[in-house]
Amino acid sequence: MEELQDLQRMVNGARRIVFFGGAGVSTESGIPDFRSPDGLYQEEFQGLTPEMILSSSFFYLHPETFFDYYRRYLLHPGARPNAAHRKLYELEKADRLRGIVTQNIDGLHRIAGNIRLYEIHGTVHRNVCMDCGDVYDMAWMLGTSGIPRCPHCGGVVKPEVVLYGEAPDRYVMMGADREISQADLLIVAGTSLTVEPAASMTERFHGKHMVVINREPTPADGRADLVIRGNVAEVMESIQVPYIN
Ligand code: NAD
Ligand code: ZN
Repeated sequence: MEELQDLQRMVNGARRIVFFGGAGVSTESGIPDFRSPDGLYQEEFQGLTPEMILSSSFFYLHPETFFDYYRRYLLHPGARPNAAHRKLYELEKADRLRGIVTQNIDGLHRIAGNIRLYEIHGTVHRNVCMDCGDVYDMAWMLGTSGIPRCPHCGGVVKPEVVLYGEAPDRYVMMGADREISQADLLIVAGTSLTVEPAASMTERFHGKHMVVINREPTPADGRADLVIRGNVAEVMESIQVPYIN
């Protein structure tokens, strides 16, 4: 495929690659995205959309329903990094990748070994007591039912994920913006780019090349130097990591 050769050339010529990803990066790991035909928007849950349930106002008004949905659809304890996550780890190890900015909350990039990671929507692996601040992991959350309560103080334990209507952590956002604005190659992958502020973050990029890898068209395609309509895991797997000796 000619596009893969173009991508390889861009990777070879880049020193500061930044990867900007969404739910499509993890579908090959068995975690459904939102907007694909088999995505969570198609799952009927009491007539509510994921966006309604995963909102700050819904969390406070109907915590029980929120947690039922959260445990059932957002926690995937068996999911493992796929070829895309693994390639990104290799690229970071080879000092080619400056950072990953992800909208995903599944933590798979960290499990794959990446350190230079900006999880702008948080992570399911940290759950924080709203009263005493104690932190619990995903296994703990999976072992609870109803509204999860802190074993130490009885406070409600809230996942450290950014709900609709909540602002992302400003330090994470500042770091992510800085990496994108300093990148020479930006790879945007597996995201419909419909969720703000993520959507407009790609506009901070002023480097040499921007590549979009997605099964469907995205609002960033018009600004991209290369658009690959393919599977993120397969496309990323094809990249040969250029090692500097
Ligand atoms: P989205 O569902 O809106 O869009 C995903 C895009 O990826 C779609 O355009 C789809 O065509 C494409 N896609 C899916 N699988 C692909 C593949 N294997 N190869 C190429 N393209 C593929 O997701 P989004 O833009 O990330 O926005 C959804 C929001 O929901 C995010 O904020 C995210 O936090 C959250 N979310 C996260 C997870 C996760 O952590 N894995 C899963 C679902 C939703
Ligand atoms: Zn507590």
